[in-house]
Amino acid sequence: MVIWLIICNFGKYYSEPMEQSLIIIKPSGVERGLIGPIIGRFQQKGLVIAGLKMMMLNEDLLRQHYAHLVDKPFFASLIKSMTACPVIVMCLRGKDAIAVIRSLVGPTNCRNAAPGTIRGDYGMSSQENIIHASDSPENGIIETNRFFSPEEIFDYIPANISYIYSPDERD
Ligand code: UDP
Ligand code: MG
Repeated sequence: MVIWLIICNFGKYYSEPMEQSLIIIKPSGVERGLIGPIIGRFQQKGLVIAGLKMMMLNEDLLRQHYAHLVDKPFFASLIKSMTACPVIVMCLRGKDAIAVIRSLVGPTNCRNAAPGTIRGDYGMSSQENIIHASDSPENGIIETNRFFSPEEIFDYIPANISYIYSPDERD
């Protein structure tokens, strides 16, 4: 009976409407002492942390991650910036998580980002812009799989889930 209830609820929480995003707290966020405040913002919002670790990025991985930018004049500088120190990578989950997270993060150039957003509150740069967040549900899955192995992602149901979503929002 207990196992049956767990299986039912698991299906409810992780069914199609729940999206996932890769987050990277970039060297600009790590070196400026912003790991705690940034993780705190996502937790306070009600997003679920399904994976979290510190790692050193390398050029091979970044060429895949930033494949859409390899021909840009700033690409070499971007690689240097992203490999300057270890980063924090996270897998966050939630309903409409991609749009919710992108709105919490703000636009690419921190100088254009509104107060209250992460980039608006913490940055002044287009490149040293504190954080990465996935830009579509498809990329959320692709990017998470690129940075995490399956055993590093945890499919648990948070104990406070019924205070974050109504039952119909979890269907
Ligand atoms: N970037 C840069 N110069 C630019 C545009 C982007 O250095 O003129 C860097 C910046 O760090 C940005 C990353 O490249 O976060 C990826 O660019 P994208 O357009 O995907 O922006 P994002 O999705 O991070 O807002
Ligand atoms: Mg992007």
